[in-house]
Amino acid sequence: MFESLSERLSQIFQRLRGKGLLTQADVDQGLKEIRAALLSADVHVEVVKELLGRVRERAVGERLVESLSPAQQLLAIVRQEMARVMGGEAQKLKLSGKPAIVVLVGPAGSGKTTTAAKLARHLAKKGRKPLLVSADPERPAAAEQLATLAQRLGLPWASADQHPLDQVPQILARARRELWDVVILDTPGSPPGVPPPPFLSELLPKIMPSDVLLVVDALTGQEALRVAEVFQPLGLTGIILTKLDGDARGGAALSLPSRLGKPLLFVGVGERPEDLEPFHPERMADRILGLGDLSGLVEKLQETGVAERAARALKEKTFTLEDFLAQLEAMQRAGPLGQLLARLPGFARPAEDEIAQEFKKMKAIIQSMTVEERRNPHIIGASRKRRIARGSGTTVQDVNRLLAEYEQAKKLMKELGRGRFPGGKLPFPR
Ligand code: GDP
Ligand code: MG
Repeated sequence: MFESLSERLSQIFQRLRGKGLLTQADVDQGLKEIRAALLSADVHVEVVKELLGRVRERAVGERLVESLSPAQQLLAIVRQEMARVMGGEAQKLKLSGKPAIVVLVGPAGSGKTTTAAKLARHLAKKGRKPLLVSADPERPAAAEQLATLAQRLGLPWASADQHPLDQVPQILARARRELWDVVILDTPGSPPGVPPPPFLSELLPKIMPSDVLLVVDALTGQEALRVAEVFQPLGLTGIILTKLDGDARGGAALSLPSRLGKPLLFVGVGERPEDLEPFHPERMADRILGLGDLSGLVEKLQETGVAERAARALKEKTFTLEDFLAQLEAMQRAGPLGQLLARLPGFARPAEDEIAQEFKKMKAIIQSMTVEERRNPHIIGASRKRRIARGSGTTVQDVNRLLAEYEQAKKLMKELGRGRFPGGKLPFPR
């Protein structure tokens, strides 16, 4: 998903990180590169402008160039603003009414029928009683496709393919009697850019669905916007983006919510019925930024027992630099280090030997400290920093960076130790 965009963004942040302190020119250059990366991923130019405008404003407001870990902080800002442009908070289906009516609309081949089945499965897993209904008078095979999917999932289905305007209300009445609490209506598609079939604009005001979802294919990038426009008159309430498992470039995910003013609710990530994920703007921003899968990282850390040990240390309020050192060593032993670290923010995809170098430096710095300093890092002032840098063959900047990393690890461990890792919310320095 979004490999080339993630790759480019990771490289940009890696380069910034390598510089340590940043000048205003570095920041400007970084933002210029991010802009180019987003545009070539087919993100709408207005969305890019809006996103980077906010990032620039905050970079100034939060005194980025004077901060201790500016690249990290810039990454945190970009991540937050990216999530904001994709809708901010995760949104849910409305599902009001008895039964609640969910209508899927969109161009032909975008994945409506497949998504109808996925959505039914998702809702059934949540304890709802969904009924799948096909309303495609134009394509005889349409009902069959839905029926096959429904049967495979053991879910009920009905066809309103002959005269949807009469049949759909009848089926709704039946659903009400039989206590099916969600009706998912699959509709015919039209060629891209061609308005939806007229019977839809007649049917929807009659049945008053709580959710009218536009199903669009992420592979079409920004083109998805133009396609979406013709469905706006149907009163869209949300978007489902399909085929994110393909080589989608990111344009649609980043552009659609703000350009259409509708929330992105789900993404399709494969052809199987289970390949539907509720959309979380923050997690998606993490993926786009190459920050990887944090819940995966948490699992890995738990396997190594690092988190547990750190949590214990924290409970006694003693996550010291010695613990940090032990943690680094444990992570190094935990095996494919690059893989593990690639999931950590700030460590965006470094080369294996670069990591080894960085680790050696970090260890040397901690080893050049006195026991007292390791246990009470707050006593490390300017002159101690100079001495430590000299002793470890590094610079004061390196020592500062290590201390910032330590503070960040401490926060991360605190979150992990509480046994919860809020959906992608990282203890970034703000
Ligand atoms: P419709 O014409 O809008 O009803 O589209 P269909 O549901 O018939 O889907 C068209 C094709 O896209 C089918 O081959 C589906 O298997 C495929 N498809 C749908 N959603 C996804 C997805 O999220 N990922 C992938 N890889 N394929 C999908
Ligand atoms: Mg279909």
